[in-house]
Amino acid sequence: MFFLRRRVFLALILLSTLNFAASGEQRPVRIGLLAFLDTEAMTSQWTPLVNHLAAALPGYKPVLIQLDHAALREAVATQSVDFVITNPGSYVALEMEFGISRIATLDTAQAPSPMRAVGSAVIVRADRKDLVSLSDLAGKRVIAVGENAFGGFQVAWREFAQLGLDPFTDFAQLDFVGLPMHTVTDAVIEGRADAGIVRACTIENLASRPPSGFRVLSPRREPDFPCQTSTRLYPDWPIATLRSTPPALAKSIAIALLAMSVTPEGMSWTVPADYQAVHELFRELQTGPYSYLKESTLRAAVVRYWPLILMLATLMVAWIIYTVRVEYLVQARTAALRQALDERKTIEGRMRVHQEQVEHLSRLSILGELSGTLAHEINQPLASIGNYAQSLVLRVDNGRVTDAAVREASLEMAGQAARAAGILSRIRGFSRKRATVRERRVLAELVRETVVLFSGMLSNRPEIRVDEGTAANCVVEVDPLQIQQIMLNLLKNGLDAMQDLPDDQRRLDIVLRPDNGTLHVAVRDYGRGLAPEAQEHLFEPFFTTKTDGLGLGLSICTTIIEAHGGRLSAQPPAEGPGLVFTFTLPTHD
Ligand code: ADP
Repeated sequence: MFFLRRRVFLALILLSTLNFAASGEQRPVRIGLLAFLDTEAMTSQWTPLVNHLAAALPGYKPVLIQLDHAALREAVATQSVDFVITNPGSYVALEMEFGISRIATLDTAQAPSPMRAVGSAVIVRADRKDLVSLSDLAGKRVIAVGENAFGGFQVAWREFAQLGLDPFTDFAQLDFVGLPMHTVTDAVIEGRADAGIVRACTIENLASRPPSGFRVLSPRREPDFPCQTSTRLYPDWPIATLRSTPPALAKSIAIALLAMSVTPEGMSWTVPADYQAVHELFRELQTGPYSYLKESTLRAAVVRYWPLILMLATLMVAWIIYTVRVEYLVQARTAALRQALDERKTIEGRMRVHQEQVEHLSRLSILGELSGTLAHEINQPLASIGNYAQSLVLRVDNGRVTDAAVREASLEMAGQAARAAGILSRIRGFSRKRATVRERRVLAELVRETVVLFSGMLSNRPEIRVDEGTAANCVVEVDPLQIQQIMLNLLKNGLDAMQDLPDDQRRLDIVLRPDNGTLHVAVRDYGRGLAPEAQEHLFEPFFTTKTDGLGLGLSICTTIIEAHGGRLSAQPPAEGPGLVFTFTLPTHD
């Protein structure tokens, strides 16, 4: 394990202190060190420092404790260390959070100055000709050691941000693979990533690979800096005291560090550098110790734009109220419409019943009007039957009865009885109360049946001519009784119009003519024609010129015909006296 777990570490630190207190030996000086190399490398790099401090401060025992970012923060928070050596980013964060204070800055031989020592190199494989500048990395796979690595990520992040690139959203992939640093260089060379972010000088110091295998994107000119860098340079690592560190110890350590000569690795300590540039970096990125800026930027925006925000909020609330209201109105209206439709259906149902009742009444009315002649008509066969019966009685009385005479009289009587029964059955059928139906019928047949019914009810019947023309087989879909009713009405009206004429001039013509899917039926009389007062009101209900008329016949006929998809009209004949009523019906093949 490279790092011990954080809590175990802190326990160890505490234990070492207790041991010292109990034994009275050298006082330990606990130096927390942010670890970024493997143990062996760390040891070789920092051993000269420990040795130097041990020599310079007799009575003290410097202990170097390697910690990762989280463990280092906790050590500072719990004051489990006396000093901290860490990267500039981590230093600035701990400075702002816990008030640690730098007493010296690392001075490495490689960097021209401790102020310009840390940068990032964004590297690609030397043969990746498509990648030249940092902005070419949009949509590419990028790898780095960690989000908290200062030279290994944060320094480059600032440069990306200034180009308008957000590494967390604009790269196809951003992987943090952890230490050691060569994990990143390996991934780039092996093609597992398009680019890697490493601390400047990493590739120049690599033992395993030649720097020529890599190319640095957007290389910058940094005078005297011996390595390639894609970013500006920042101060080197500081060593800092905690608030709890005894000032005398801090002073002794500072003096010892400044007095330390350059180690074989080219490392020494100098006066503390200015870390303002690091503050700027975090401020710009609004991260680390400055992540509160993001929040305060939002707050500032609210303070600044509150009238606009208020207006938008008001608009939104108004819109929601409007939508809810519209929804409510739509529902209320729908319910009202549904209720109106239901009511309409009920009314229509009632109207249908009334209509049927009116039609029935109308049929009874026609019968009533014809009843005088009807009685006469039925009386005729009854009288004949009576005559035959009486003549049979006479013959019996006279003893002249023969089988042939009995047979003839009986046959005549049976014939007359059948005639009367036929008339009555047709009338009963016509006067029946029933619901509307639809049947396919040949209209010419229906017309003929109606003429028989009509004639059967009359004693003094006029001549009735039926001209079927080419309509002899035309089929219509109708309520046969209703069509009969219309025909009877028209025939009866025609007869009434001719009542003043001598018998031989009374005539009714019925003409059937098919025309393009429609059958025209014309009923003509030769009567007085249309009275001037009847011109306008002919089809209106209750209009009549007759003393005993109801004035419902034609209006009922119109309703029936329209319910069958046809029309009823009246016009004077082309020549001669009278009036022609024409109704139409759609035909069915
Ligand atoms: P009603 O027969 O009870 O009067 P109708 O609605 O059948 O009711 O007729 C209304 C009126 O139309 C009649 O009173 C009559 O004036 C006029 N009329 C109907 N048919 C004819 C016709 N063939 N010739 C002249 N007038 C007619």
